[in-house]
Amino acid sequence: MENKLPTYLTERDGELWLTEDERENLKISYRIKNVIYSGQSKFQHIMILDSYDFGRMLVLDGVVQTTSIDGHIYNEMITHVPLSIHPNPEKILIIGGGDCGVAKEVCKYDVVKHIDMVEIDDEVVRVCKQELIDVSGNLSDPRVNFIFDDGVAFVKKLHSEYDVIIIDSSDPVGPAEALFEKSFYESLHKALKEDGLMVCQSQSPIFHRDIMRTSYKRIQQLFSYVNLYTAVIPTYPGGLWSFTLGSKKYQEIDFRRIMGRETKYINVEMVQRCFSLPQFIYTLLSDENAQ
Ligand code: SAM
Repeated sequence: MENKLPTYLTERDGELWLTEDERENLKISYRIKNVIYSGQSKFQHIMILDSYDFGRMLVLDGVVQTTSIDGHIYNEMITHVPLSIHPNPEKILIIGGGDCGVAKEVCKYDVVKHIDMVEIDDEVVRVCKQELIDVSGNLSDPRVNFIFDDGVAFVKKLHSEYDVIIIDSSDPVGPAEALFEKSFYESLHKALKEDGLMVCQSQSPIFHRDIMRTSYKRIQQLFSYVNLYTAVIPTYPGGLWSFTLGSKKYQEIDFRRIMGRETKYINVEMVQRCFSLPQFIYTLLSDENAQ
């Protein structure tokens, strides 16, 4: 744990503020009660902060990744939607996901026999298991096999191995940049069984339109079915967030998988509605020139 504060954490009138430098014209500030952990790993600067409105949060290189208050929205949406589409999701691969929130949700399915979680940074996992328990649940399910490696290098070697792949990446800068490239999606397609499916977080439909559209098109070129869905996650810029699902065979949701499940955000109505998109997103996905 280091003593010096990073530049995005400043003291103003005796109060501590985290300022996420989202883009030139948008900066988001959170008032912070306490720095729980701050340290530099081999890959990124890691902090666990206790904030006034969002409770504890994981911050990587100054960017909020997940929080005690809204982390479950993202983790449930990226997990339960694909797992209610694949009829027999036994072998799962998670790429990234260092806060362990996605693995925690996947473990709620008895049908799942094995989960490989490939995270580049073991420090994120260690710190989140210790200090971000609202999100990680201090995960200790024996079905989870942690592999500390670069997700891109890991999937390149695979052929027809997984039923479902979930890409829980950070924004496409630094180590996560390659997780949005065409060759990575090609490797994912190859790593899935012949009836497999994948889902990734595909950024903000408001602020990252090009990334969202490019991911969608790349997945569409490879898979029989592509579907984009959204959720509102307050600590992600703009709130509205997109997920893109690519499937080789299945696209029907089995709502019985959702009913009675122990969740805080997701229910049958949310899953029914999440694929209904605002008109501007349909336009962005269908018209190359739309801005
Ligand atoms: N839910 C979050 C969001 O959308 O901002 C993502 C959270 S999760 C903490 C993202 C994880 O991806 C980080 O722990 C990071 O270390 C990991 N990661 C980034 N690049 C990676 C790569 N190339 N291979 C594997 N994991 C990677």
